[in-house]
Amino acid sequence: MDAPHAFSAIRATSESSTLRLESALALLRQAGQGAPAGDPASPAFLQTLIDQLVDLSSRDALTGLANRRSFELALAREVDRVARSGESALLLMVDIDHFKRVNDSHGHGVGDLVIRAVGQALTDSVRPMDLVARIGGEEYAVLLPNCAAAFGPQVAARVRQRVARSSVALADGQQLAVTCSVGGAFAPQWVRSTPGIWLQRADLQLYRAKAEGRDRVCLEHTAAHDVSLPERDMLLASHASQDTA
Ligand code: GH3
Ligand code: MG
Ligand code: MG
Repeated sequence: MDAPHAFSAIRATSESSTLRLESALALLRQAGQGAPAGDPASPAFLQTLIDQLVDLSSRDALTGLANRRSFELALAREVDRVARSGESALLLMVDIDHFKRVNDSHGHGVGDLVIRAVGQALTDSVRPMDLVARIGGEEYAVLLPNCAAAFGPQVAARVRQRVARSSVALADGQQLAVTCSVGGAFAPQWVRSTPGIWLQRADLQLYRAKAEGRDRVCLEHTAAHDVSLPERDMLLASHASQDTA
């Protein structure tokens, strides 16, 4: 049989062992990707297969955006980078307004289209170096490295406006409008923080945006941002370890 890739038959075999690749290749096929080219027993084939699987496990299946797992990795890396470089970075949390109504009135299929459209609007509203992730049902996070505090309100407003300009076509030809609420916080510069603390700060602002009426942006006031107790402890601990070094 000369199927382009007879998935069930592909195995990497050596004298002593056999790698079972069927499940991995079936996953790639299900995601619309072909199997790597070449000899299944070669390192190049296996490396490409690993790369494809890593990419697949980093993405959200509905939107193609980064998923929660890869977002958390990126957030942890950014916390470290900001603490070392002192560069400013912004985290935005975005949540679709009254999304339950969309599902209830138009069905989950339309709900899924809205989730995709918002993902695309977010991607279109930021730089290629920024990370847009779907981290929950109708919740997204946007991580903007190297974003100066003065630009925060402008960037967050652009994100909100871009979503508010997007819409989804319904079966009857009508356009379904969508809005979102945005909460944001900057990572504390030169301070050793944690991804959890940063996320909590941005989440608190999102909560405020919802409470204040939705379809709006709330950003943590950078001047009012206090170093939290856990951050202060981490700062003191790092000074103490430098003293004893
Ligand atoms: P709020 O303005 O306060 O955010 O209200 P909301 O209705 O958007 O928020 P709520 O958390 O009550 O509703 C979120 C809904 O999202 C509930 C859940 O059924 C739906 N949902 C979660 N994941 C998916 C998905 O993948 N597809 C679809 N169609 N709906 C989803
Ligand atoms: Mg929500
Ligand atoms: Mg919502």
